[in-house]
Amino acid sequence: MTTRPIAIVGAGEAGTRAAIALRDHGYGGPLILIGEELHPPYERPPLSKAALTAEAEPSPSAIADAYRLADLRVERLAGARVTAIDRAEHRLVTSEHGGIDYERLLLATGARARQLRAPGGEHAILLRTYDEALALRRLLRPGARVVVVGGGFIGLELAASARERGASVVVLEAAPRILTRGVPADIAEKIAARHRRAGVEIVAGCAISYIARDGGAFSVALSDGRIFAADCVIAGVGAAPEVELAAAAGLAIDNGIAVNGRLQSSDPDIFAAGDCCSFPHALYDGRRVRLEAWRNAQDQGAFVARALIGASEDYAVTPWFWSDQYDLHLQISGLVDAGATVISRDLGEGAVLNFHLAEDGRLVAASAFGPIGKIAKDARVAEMLIAKRAKPDPAYLAAGERKLKALLAA
Ligand code: FAD
Repeated sequence: MTTRPIAIVGAGEAGTRAAIALRDHGYGGPLILIGEELHPPYERPPLSKAALTAEAEPSPSAIADAYRLADLRVERLAGARVTAIDRAEHRLVTSEHGGIDYERLLLATGARARQLRAPGGEHAILLRTYDEALALRRLLRPGARVVVVGGGFIGLELAASARERGASVVVLEAAPRILTRGVPADIAEKIAARHRRAGVEIVAGCAISYIARDGGAFSVALSDGRIFAADCVIAGVGAAPEVELAAAAGLAIDNGIAVNGRLQSSDPDIFAAGDCCSFPHALYDGRRVRLEAWRNAQDQGAFVARALIGASEDYAVTPWFWSDQYDLHLQISGLVDAGATVISRDLGEGAVLNFHLAEDGRLVAASAFGPIGKIAKDARVAEMLIAKRAKPDPAYLAAGERKLKALLAA
């Protein structure tokens, strides 16, 4: 009798890390990694940064190349979309390779960039894949007029990259300020100021009426009558979890594929990890969250590998996210809640570290912004304090001259 493989759908960050970790943890059985993209699994974070600003056209930054996957005896099916899951038969239906049986299944299908919902929104370029980054790169010429819709992380990274390429840039944001999701107002203001210094025009609190195209040129019209002419319109208006396959198979969905603390879906033989899933976070009283962050996809990939072969603990890694814009760096650990008390520590040279304390004094999040050399160490300590569920003295946190590391021993 042949053993059925563990099958992984989605050869991105979470899926590929899971395949590698399965071998690290001693799983010796058959392993199939199925992905619809043709490139070897690659990192997405550079797509809005170095892939756009590098002098020469870059290659994808590989997570694992074909040799590594072959070494690990991972059968990789590239350019193959899984179109259905037959749960009763434990079989996948694929676009190119017919049916594939599985013993256990990991869905690591990621997320897709949301379309801009406005008349003419289809003219706005979206960015999720390496091929899309290459196409965008060609448009970011010196002097090109670029309108970025969305003042979130991706939109702002795109704005910074476009400026570095010599384009003129306008950022349009619907909310009253940029970065309303998860970034405190003082840091958002510092980031906005850095963009303005670089020559980016930020228009917040605006609504787009329509985008019109005339040959290779576009007009982006706002509801207040202003019109911005553009050679290129880019939308960074969030991402939606890729759940179609799971939903069609009848799996529970709740802002992503709903999994339990072990990242197991409502079908005990199907797990999910990365951007596509929502899970109860053990560090936050089981609050259900979905994270769109590189390190979460890595961590969950490694974690779910153990769950796929029987481990039973719950996922409790501190969420962590970073963004690079120009020469500055933003890091957010934990979950930033609007109601938290924020204590700021001045790290010098304009760098700041904010501690977010819950009502009971527990450190639940930390946000840092500034030159990497100024923030990295303290932000790491803050992350460790969050993991320890520490309740540090607010006065100590605010006192920049007092060593943060000492709190770890407390
Ligand atoms: P993905 O990497 O999206 O992989 C999912 C894969 O599944 C895709 O290749 C998709 O084609 C495939 N797939 C989906 N459905 C099917 C199917 N039915 N059949 C076959 N294949 C399928 N995070 C940070 O923390 N910091 C950053 O600075 C940062 N920058 C980013 C910049 C950009 C431009 C983007 C797009 C993301 C960035 N991220 C960043 C987020 C980070 O890259 C993601 O959180 C991470 O890639 C998620 O990994 P994943 O494996 O869940 O999904």
